[in-house]
Amino acid sequence: MNDLRETLWQLTRTLGDPARDLVIIGEGNTSARVDAETFLVKASGQQMHTMEPSGLVQVRFDPILAMLEADSPPSLDEQKAIARAAKVDPAAPDPSIEVSFHALLLAECGVPFIGHTHPTPIVSILCSPRARDFAARRTFPDEAVLCGPRSAYVPYADPGLPLAHAIRQAVRAFRDEEGVWPRVILIENHGFIALGSSPQEVLNITMMAVKGARIFLSAAALGGPVFLSDAEVRHIVGRPDEIYRRDQFAQSNRP
Ligand SMILES: [Zn+2]
Repeated sequence: MNDLRETLWQLTRTLGDPARDLVIIGEGNTSARVDAETFLVKASGQQMHTMEPSGLVQVRFDPILAMLEADSPPSLDEQKAIARAAKVDPAAPDPSIEVSFHALLLAECGVPFIGHTHPTPIVSILCSPRARDFAARRTFPDEAVLCGPRSAYVPYADPGLPLAHAIRQAVRAFRDEEGVWPRVILIENHGFIALGSSPQEVLNITMMAVKGARIFLSAAALGGPVFLSDAEVRHIVGRPDEIYRRDQFAQSNRP
């Protein structure tokens, strides 16, 4: 087994651990850039916690990115056929329906690892009227440092190509406004995406965002949250010692 497949498999199983309550049954998916032409993504119908390494499928970027750019979007059946034809090994299982947003984020946002999960505390907020507050504000310093000064927010869209289009619009707007790509993407009434420089960073961002969601929910029950000010958030995320610490933790372990 090559190293990258092994590494992504370990991340996938770790995120799928039932004790973490990030996904159940077939929820969630992960991906990693292999080279300029291809990436690995979870296959359709796999459970993250019980998956074998063969549950990751290597896919070419070009046909998937071309599907995203098509003037008239392909039907669901056509999307599946395009994704099937994009597999490097035709005998491999078919990729997840979310292959399109994984290709987009890996190709565009300069990160090699993506983890998409449905954590209960985060989805609770994303199904509430306060979802945009959770994306735009931060409640404590480590949340700001790990998850970024704010998160990209994606209004609800049908999974598959409509969701990939909505994510593309949200991350490009975020980049225009912030000058950097997001570390966290929140999808209304659906879930969470962490963008990481390493598998450990995907896990770190995910667990810190879950902690942030738990704190948000508890503080809301007490009449809050009282958020950090924007100036406090910008100050803490720009501190060199905090950036050093964050990047050390991103490389420290294997998930
Ligand atoms: Zn999902």
